[in-house]
Amino acid sequence: MSEPSPGTTNPLEDAAGVAPDLAVALVGFRQWRLADGALASMYDGASWPDGCLTACCDCGHSREELPAKDCSCGVYAYYDPCPRTASAATPDLIGGAVVVWGRVEAHIYGMRGQHARIVAVELPLSRGRKRRAVIEATERLGVPAVPHRSLKSVALRHGEVLAPALRPKKTLTRAANVWARNGPV
Ligand SMILES: [Zn+2]
Repeated sequence: MSEPSPGTTNPLEDAAGVAPDLAVALVGFRQWRLADGALASMYDGASWPDGCLTACCDCGHSREELPAKDCSCGVYAYYDPCPRTASAATPDLIGGAVVVWGRVEAHIYGMRGQHARIVAVELPLSRGRKRRAVIEATERLGVPAVPHRSLKSVALRHGEVLAPALRPKKTLTRAANVWARNGPV
């Protein structure tokens, strides 16, 4: 698997009120559903072939304009790791880290990106079937399965966090509420 090429366009050109000149992959955090040995998006079940996902839009935006400013399209990632407890008690939810690149729309708690790639997955606390399934799935993808406490440091080998100063304090677009409405795609 090759490293993503950093965005060739300003990755935050459409962010609400901020337009930093960044050309690096950005680190983000999210969860997936583990189904049939593969990681899939939690809400729409989209598969992540080879651990990667390129955004698509149900509202008609072309791939080149994703994530669109006034839309909910894009691959979602939070700035901070999801709490360890967010997936621990479930049989099939797992947390992990991605890098996001291409066009990026910055929101208060996270971002919507054009492309994303899984760079690390969190090991479940339990030693049972879920843990074995995570290890098998990550071996297939060629990404490390790491303890929650190591997730951020492992992820930072692949990209940078979006500096807090570059995150909008208030999201100005209608897409602001997509976090509550849809959750990460
Ligand atoms: Zn859209």
